[in-house]
Amino acid sequence: AGDSPVARQACKAGSQSNHDGAATLTAFFDEAVGRFADKVAVEFFGRTWSYGEIDALSDRLAAGLAAIGVRKGTRVGLCLPNSPYSVIGFFAVLKAGGIVVNFNPLYTSREIRDQIRDSGTEFMFTLDLEAVYKGLGPAVAETGLKRVIVCPMAEVLPPAKGLLFRLFKRTDLAHIPDDPQHVHFDALMRMASIVPVPEIETAPEDIAVLQYTGGTTGLPKGAMLSHRALVANARQLIAQSDTTGLLVEGGEVMVCVLPFFHVFAMTVCMLYAVEIGASMLLVPRFKRDELIALMERRKPTLFPAVPTIYGAINSVAETRKLHLESLKLCISGGAPLPLEVRADFEELTGCRLSEGYGLTECSPVVSVNPLDGAPGKNGSAGLPMPGTTLEIRDSENPSVLLPKGVKGELWVRGPQVMSGYWNRPEETANVLRDGALRTGDIGYLDEEGFLFLVDRLKDMIICSGYNVYPRMIEEALYEHDAVAEAIVIGIHDEYRGEAPKAYVSLREGATVTVEELHAFLKPRLSKIELPKEIEIRDSLPKTLIGKLSKKELIAEERRATHHA
Ligand code: AMP
Repeated sequence: AGDSPVARQACKAGSQSNHDGAATLTAFFDEAVGRFADKVAVEFFGRTWSYGEIDALSDRLAAGLAAIGVRKGTRVGLCLPNSPYSVIGFFAVLKAGGIVVNFNPLYTSREIRDQIRDSGTEFMFTLDLEAVYKGLGPAVAETGLKRVIVCPMAEVLPPAKGLLFRLFKRTDLAHIPDDPQHVHFDALMRMASIVPVPEIETAPEDIAVLQYTGGTTGLPKGAMLSHRALVANARQLIAQSDTTGLLVEGGEVMVCVLPFFHVFAMTVCMLYAVEIGASMLLVPRFKRDELIALMERRKPTLFPAVPTIYGAINSVAETRKLHLESLKLCISGGAPLPLEVRADFEELTGCRLSEGYGLTECSPVVSVNPLDGAPGKNGSAGLPMPGTTLEIRDSENPSVLLPKGVKGELWVRGPQVMSGYWNRPEETANVLRDGALRTGDIGYLDEEGFLFLVDRLKDMIICSGYNVYPRMIEEALYEHDAVAEAIVIGIHDEYRGEAPKAYVSLREGATVTVEELHAFLKPRLSKIELPKEIEIRDSLPKTLIGKLSKKELIAEERRATHHA
């Protein structure tokens, strides 16, 4: 299964101009189905679905969604690891006129609950697995979710695996209540036979996705990504990568190990794959050795990932020879790509590893190093995407535009820029000015226009490609009676890039140990947010007006890493 020969058809140079018509994701998907109906769209544990099948399933699901009340603009959450349901669900929600709200199933209940409330999510997709439902479960009862659509894992596995799954994982289902608030995926599909596929008028400016991010302030908010912005971003990437006929339409196999609920994977994996008719090899969970075994067996050609994953693969290559020669194109994003990780990976695979840069508010890709053979630059985040302008402005005084070579805050203009933050006009006005987006990243442009990023104004930590917001960890620390003050910063981490470190001072007379604080945080934070280190100090640095100040601690930490 999954090896079905796909006709190899040379990709037309400048293919984007052939498909300029579609400016909504639904039309974009329709076009792809028209071109690739028989090609494999999704492969999951060896089972495959063609583009035509995904289209038919998402049509039916859209009808089912309409039957339970999804209308134009209704927010529908996807709280799913990568699985066929992620792709079918994504396009079904859009076909029904809804807005996709991406949820990370590994978030804590509190984070999921807050995101449901803030976005006004009314319907939610999830999988019948305890590990996936764990965070969502308690939030369901506390929020006004109208329906939770429970997707059965066993039914998307190959028959033998599905059977084993039913036998051994049955207990998982017991955690999901059998009540009117929950509806089985199959029941929804059955409803579809009594209602037609909804006829929805979708405009390019309509919001397609609410993508949550801390942005520059750390408070979670939904970036409104329009149909036009997302289609534009997928096409910009193709235009940048497909100038030399490197890609074969309908003939590529892409590893999709980054979760689709993350904006990088949604666009650079899913939408990119759809545009070129690639088959998406879905990996629900990153486990290094399993991923390598799968790649050696299935011989994928495209492999977008984050630096941590490339680094993990390099580490295995030190112990045995890996067979990853099938790779044609790898794109790293989400965090800075260390030079040695790139060099080792390229040597290991013979495949170019291009670094790109983006952020949720830009759908997300802003720049990428050349993907088509022209030389990139070490340490650079690449050249702006077609139709994208980068401006370096004085971070204190944004009206001052800085010349090439001078560091400042990066502002971005382009069709991929978000429409604003959901229900947050003030925060929107703070980052969107005259059509340009303030990124909160510090960098400069060299003479040839390559972007170099040097720092972040926002105090977010990027841990294995995921954003961690110090504020969330600080708030959890403040819940402890002994804690008077807390500051969390990012420190260097060999494996994850960065990791959180917490500094606390205690209330007078209070005592607590570092171990006790670790134990206190464990149930309150998701795994990725748990501090790697906690340090208790008599007092924490303050600014002149008495606000807690991170700067000193960050400088101290950098000096320590430097001397190490
Ligand atoms: P997110 O909104 O979660 O996609 O996070 C976006 C942030 O990740 C950016 O604003 C940057 O701070 C950081 N980032 C993404 N790609 C890179 C890169 N190639 N180099 C340095 N930082 C990056």
